[in-house]
Amino acid sequence: MTDLSDDELERYARHIVLPQVGGVGQRNLKAASIAVVGAGGIGSAVLPALAGAGVGRLTIIDDDIVDRTNLQRQPIFRNDQIDRPKAVLASEFVRSLNPYVEVDAVQQRLTAGNAKTLLSGHDLVLDGCDNFATRLVVGDTLTRLRIPLVSAAAVQFQGQVALFRGWEPDKPCYRCFVGDAFDSDDCDTCAEQGVLGALTATVGGFAALMAIRAIVGIGEDVAGNLFLFDGAALDWRKIRLPKDPNCRTC
Ligand SMILES: [Zn+2]
Repeated sequence: MTDLSDDELERYARHIVLPQVGGVGQRNLKAASIAVVGAGGIGSAVLPALAGAGVGRLTIIDDDIVDRTNLQRQPIFRNDQIDRPKAVLASEFVRSLNPYVEVDAVQQRLTAGNAKTLLSGHDLVLDGCDNFATRLVVGDTLTRLRIPLVSAAAVQFQGQVALFRGWEPDKPCYRCFVGDAFDSDDCDTCAEQGVLGALTATVGGFAALMAIRAIVGIGEDVAGNLFLFDGAALDWRKIRLPKDPNCRTC
């Protein structure tokens, strides 16, 4: 089993003291490999949480560069990093936070052509990208690869987070949830509709927690449930998603 050095035991002391994590849970985190799709608002909350938690290997997939309009909700980037590639900067952020995390920066757009290659070999994928076309490619690919997906999205004051394992009987996949209408929809919803910066932090933090509890095995299994957050009303709701009997993916 993966071992922890004295330095790591000290670094993760506040985890290890938790009965639900302990030394075993911390070793499971170190042994885990997670791909994060999108280093935007969601990714900016997810990456510090997963890197700080000691997830052993992180792959960061994003083809974008930092824009001035990103800084309102993407605190892993700084004002002097505008126009530089997000995947590279995010991986530098992770390395500077926790040298025990192996991190790969993938400065490519995830497509139907490269999704299987980029996502294979991970224990879990966290998708916080900004468009439905990529989300559907990620969801379909992971159902086929049998890799759990934590999907997180935030727009205006609304957030949604769910864990999908669509290859299991009675568990919906991402396509069961959104249907087929969005495969060609490539709009940047944030640009069109706006998003509160603190909302992406809330939703991204929740998604990181969902990923960590899935890796460590904390609490009940929430696969197939959709968690909806209303940032204006300050209210979380949980909805059970049905499996679509006509879904073409699962
Ligand atoms: Zn499905």
